[in-house]
Amino acid sequence: MTGRVAGKVAIITGGASGLGAESARRLAKEGACVVLTDLAADAGQTLADEIAGAGGRARFMAHDVTDEAAWARVVAGTRDAFGRIDVLVNNAGIGEGEPFLESTLAGWRKVLGVNLDGVYLGMRAVAPEMAATGGGSIINISSILGLVGFPGATAYCAAKGGVRLLTKATALELAPLGIRVNSVHPGFIETPMVANSLLASENGNEMKEMLISRHALGRLGVPREIGDGVVFLASDESSFMTGSELVIDGGYTAA
Ligand code: NAP
Repeated sequence: MTGRVAGKVAIITGGASGLGAESARRLAKEGACVVLTDLAADAGQTLADEIAGAGGRARFMAHDVTDEAAWARVVAGTRDAFGRIDVLVNNAGIGEGEPFLESTLAGWRKVLGVNLDGVYLGMRAVAPEMAATGGGSIINISSILGLVGFPGATAYCAAKGGVRLLTKATALELAPLGIRVNSVHPGFIETPMVANSLLASENGNEMKEMLISRHALGRLGVPREIGDGVVFLASDESSFMTGSELVIDGGYTAA
């Protein structure tokens, strides 16, 4: 088997859509066995079939990242299918937001539950498996909104900022076990999450122009540009990186 991640076994959460789907495609193309997990079972199975049809090795497992028992099933299922776990991409997330003064504790907890607890639960479930086989690479998908604020996104920013430092703290603890932990900080990328928020907004077209203008490169990103970063962090090309932030944002946070 050839490729930049040949022979590695990777779990990708939220793998049925957007950045997770493209990361799964690219990891598989570079030789990894991939386990896609998602709430969206039909889309996840379709993508696993697509990857297998193109000669890759892929499985889909229905999974809610906020469910600790479901994580145990994903770990056991991956071990049964492929024998080990080398890479975890904690990608599943929701983009819901509300103005702070209208926000509710239920809304806050929902966003923190998926976007921060889900990352913690994933690392907690998978790290012992990686340690038992000599190490691995954990990639936590944060956001530019884990680095800078955005109005109407307080819970999202809190969760993504939490992922940034959760990544650094676990990187320090897990380094002696051979496990690297890094975060990825995408700018606004053309995925269903962004398309749906623009559609739901009263002035979606103006909003899109405003977002584009904030990226120095003058456009939104495309999923491939994040998938390439994920492959890099999953591969041994990044063997001296841990606890770091891979910012892929077209210059959004350079200003
Ligand atoms: P997306 O297209 O909406 O895909 C996210 C996937 O995660 C969906 O398939 C979704 O399923 C799934 N999901 C949601 N809650 C889940 C849960 N509790 N358990 C398992 N799966 C769950 O979004 P995306 O744009 O690719 O975003 C992927 C990640 O990148 C997210 O963490 C997001 O915050 C982050 N990010 C995105 C951007 C961007 O501009 N797109 C920028 C920075 C960071 P359902 O569709 O069924 O809910």
